[in-house]
Amino acid sequence: ALQAGIVGLPNVGKSTLFNAITQAGAESANYPFCTIEPNVGVVEVPDDRLNRIAEIVKPQRILPTAFEFVDIAGLVKGASKGEGLGNKFLSHIREVDAIVHVVRCFEDENITHVSGGVDPISDIETINLELILADLETVERRIERTRKNMKGGNKQFAKELECLERIKDALYNDRAARTVELSDEERPLIRDLHLLTMKPVLYAANVSEEEAANYGGNPYVKQVQEYAAQENAEVIAICAKVEAEIAELEGEDKELFLQELGLKESGLNRLIRSAYKLLGLQTYFTAGEQEVRAWTIRANTKAPQAAGIIHSDFERGFIRAEVVSYEDLIACGSMAAVREKGLLRLEGKDYVVQDGDIIHFRFNV
Ligand code: GDP
Repeated sequence: ALQAGIVGLPNVGKSTLFNAITQAGAESANYPFCTIEPNVGVVEVPDDRLNRIAEIVKPQRILPTAFEFVDIAGLVKGASKGEGLGNKFLSHIREVDAIVHVVRCFEDENITHVSGGVDPISDIETINLELILADLETVERRIERTRKNMKGGNKQFAKELECLERIKDALYNDRAARTVELSDEERPLIRDLHLLTMKPVLYAANVSEEEAANYGGNPYVKQVQEYAAQENAEVIAICAKVEAEIAELEGEDKELFLQELGLKESGLNRLIRSAYKLLGLQTYFTAGEQEVRAWTIRANTKAPQAAGIIHSDFERGFIRAEVVSYEDLIACGSMAAVREKGLLRLEGKDYVVQDGDIIHFRFNV
């Protein structure tokens, strides 16, 4: 399953946020493919389309799709040189598909800040510097190897070298590898390096309890937003402490508490949706009397591979997909009306599944 890693300096609220995630977490029996480890939390992706489809199909149960958050603790200054849990920390980051970087934006004199005072930009730069240094080492090692390979006269290596030099330049200037523009041809050349600063990032600005619903006056959040804009990253403001409280409640109690706080929904839901988008994920649905269910795919996935997420037999024996778009189903109001209007499409093995497609797969066993 895809994973988003939670990172940040000590005492910024990572554990608090992670606890909220596991507390609100999904029933793991429904997601047998998910990892069960203390630092992994499975979350369901809130998607109102599921409820709208269910109103039409009236299934026995509704199952959202899910992905995983991993708590990656232990980053300190000097990690790239192996200090603290440095190396272990960096290898955990290498494995995740996206990064949620928690930044302290709340004042609280009872809680020590590792570097003296609240200063989100300096915090972000401390962490980013460790990631940049680790990448620099990776890139330099690769440049040496590519130079040797070039002696064979293969033009592909010249291209690779040129691309590596550009990334090295950016890293030397304290910029993340993701800020380097790469062509579709270049990207695969360096993919296997798994650069840490190439991964998409979402900054989670941890604000105070008073600011949970309205953080407009928090100057730190503004700083983070400005910083993130420069590197094409996203920001979400959230109060970890309040999220931990919300996550303990259910049903009506939860609704009331959210109302009291002046929130339409939990910050956790916003975080989950942003991370889902950050991972470049899309959703398709299956809809039957037993269950209406959301499934996660990467953009540009073809029908047989999308079917394979349900079961490998579906992919192996794929015949065709019967597809209706979410908008068409809602507009028609029933599957029967969809058929009558000719809006149920038969698609073959080259069909690229679209976000919101409702699919019935036909397959041989
Ligand atoms: P970590 O080291 O990044 O995992 O940080 P923790 O989650 O352990 O939080 C450090 C301290 O900050 C704990 O005492 C938390 O209760 C507190 N804390 C976390 N989030 C908030 C918040 O939004 N507001 C306030 N006032 N305290 C918070």
